[in-house]
This record gives sequence, C-alpha cells and structure tokens, in this order.
Amino acid sequence: AKELGRNNVQFFSEDMNRSILEHLSWEQEINDALTANQFTLAYQPKISLRDYHTTGVEALIRWHHPEKGFVSPDRFIPVAEETGQILAIGRWVLERSCTEMRALLQSGALPENARIAVNLSARQFAAPDLETVISQVLQESGLSPSNLELEITESTLMLDVESAIATMASLQAIGVRFAIDDFGTGYSSLAYLKRLPIEVLKVDRSFVLDIPDDTNDMAITAAVIAMAHKLGIIVVAEGVESEDQVNFLRNNLCDEGQGYLFSRPLTLQQLQLFLREAQTA
Ligand code: C2E
Ligand code: CA
Ligand code: CA
Ligand code: CA
Repeated sequence: AKELGRNNVQFFSEDMNRSILEHLSWEQEINDALTANQFTLAYQPKISLRDYHTTGVEALIRWHHPEKGFVSPDRFIPVAEETGQILAIGRWVLERSCTEMRALLQSGALPENARIAVNLSARQFAAPDLETVISQVLQESGLSPSNLELEITESTLMLDVESAIATMASLQAIGVRFAIDDFGTGYSSLAYLKRLPIEVLKVDRSFVLDIPDDTNDMAITAAVIAMAHKLGIIVVAEGVESEDQVNFLRNNLCDEGQGYLFSRPLTLQQLQLFLREAQTA
C-alpha cells in the first residue's frame, strides 16, 4: 500500500495537482455563491432591425465574488457544467428570470409577445427532468410558455441530434420556443436544421465582428439569413457594435440585433429605465 501511495504521488504531476486543487476550490466557491446569493442576472435587450423596438431580452448570469470581484460566466459555467452544479444554477436562472420578466410583461414594460431567452447548458438540456423543471418554473412564475425561449448552442444540439429533436418536441408541445445559439461555430448540418423545431437562429458574434471588412463573413451571414428565412426561422445577429453592421444586417433583412450598440446587459432596474426611455423616445 505504501508503494502504491508513492506511485500515486508521482502519477499526479505538479500541474495536474494544481488544476485539481483549483477545480475543487472552484466547486466549493460555486456552492458558497449559490447559498450566499452571490449570483444575479443581467438582461440584454434584443432589438427589431425594422423599427428598433425591444422584442425580448436574454438573461445572462453574473457572479460578484466577495474577494475575486466579478467572475465571468465563461470562467465558471464550464466548471459548473463539469461538476453538475449547472443544474442548480440553471434552475435558479430560470426561476429568477421568469419571475422578474413576468412582472415586466404584466406592467406593460415589455410587449405582450416578448421573448424571454434563457441559456441552457448541454447538461441541463440532457437532464431527464428538464420538462418537469420547465413546467414547474412556468407554473410558479406565472410566465406564459410562449414568452419563454430556450437558447441552446449548436454544439449541444449536435451531440445527439435524435434525442435533441425528441426533447425539443416535448417542450414545444407545452408552448416553449427554441433558439439555436452561436450558430456557425459548430458543425450542424443544414439537413438537421430543417428537422429541429427552431424558431430563432442567432448568428454567432464572430461573423458579425468584421462586418463590413471581411467579405467572407458577410457572404456567410447573408446566406445564413436567407436560408433561415426560407425555413421560417427568425434571425438574430449577436454582438452588434456598429452602425455599419446594422446597415449591412438591415440590407440583408436580418430580423433582430443584440449587442453593445443597442445596449449592454442591464440590471433589472436599468432594463426598466431602458424600456421606459424607448417608449417615450
Ligand atoms: P452567449 O450566450 O453567447 O451570450 C452572449 C455574450 O456576449 C454575453 O457574454 C454578452 O454579454 C456578450 N455580448 C453581448 N453583446 C456584445 C457585444 O456587442 N460585444 C461583445 N464583445 N460581447 C457582447 P457573458 O454574459 O459574459 O456570457 C458569456 C457566455 O456565458 C454566454 O455566451 C453563455 O454561453 C454563458 N452564460 C451566460 N449566462 C448563462 C446562464 O445563465 N446559463 C448558461 N448555461 N450559460 C450562461
Ligand atoms: Ca446565448
Ligand atoms: Ca451566443
Ligand atoms: Ca458565445
């Protein structure tokens, strides 16, 4: 047993040791964050490129760590995905966003048909109780299913297309909509796009970034918009930061834009102000 112990020590290189320890501490920190209410939500408006009204919002998680300060979701979501903590986090995001946005819908701050978009991770999407969770959250929050949009990345959908289709169909039956996120970064086949019950396609920011300089990106973006429209799918461009991008997207009949040009992700209070100002503008 002694020898084995020594071998084990050698087996764990210093690098691995460090990354495992780091991982364990992240896991603990995430647990603390959940119990100590360190998470909040930000909401980023999605804007109609026809008349510039707000068609909906995307809920984005924020973590204000007492010592580390702001921790990016790109940093901790992958860890939570690996540890399984994403299930608890994801449920919290659903509950909070549905409750907060239902209030804005009721007060008339958001249009009746607004889409409240929530990101679902691969693990959440594959969870056997997903439909139960969604039904419960809708019931508890009072949000109408038609106001809920679930954003699923192209790569998550492509992990297991057949079961993705089945999962989406069962949720679609209760009235929930789906958006395919980060489109263009994965390997989805166009044939599948036709079979998946998708209402919205989000063109990944990497394609929007270099408009109007990169002619390839522009050709791809224009083609994706045209193809999606042929399939009856709404197109949202991510990461819109400039007027030039808006002009190009409008010329190519892109439906909606989301990005810093229109608004950064906002706190609930800021969002209420944003919507009020837009109404009086
Ligand atoms: P995403 O779903 O692609 O979200 C869009 C990201 O782009 C957000 O980053 C948003 O703040 C950022 N963004 C929006 N407009 C612009 C722009 O004009 N320029 C630039 N440079 N960036 C823009 P954020 O909030 O840091 O989130 C990063 C990623 O973390 C998200 O990418 C998503 O994959 C994940 N994430 C965030 N919240 C959640 C959540 O509640 N659940 C899950 N599962 N994942 C989440
Ligand atoms: Ca998203
Ligand atoms: Ca995205
Ligand atoms: Ca992304």
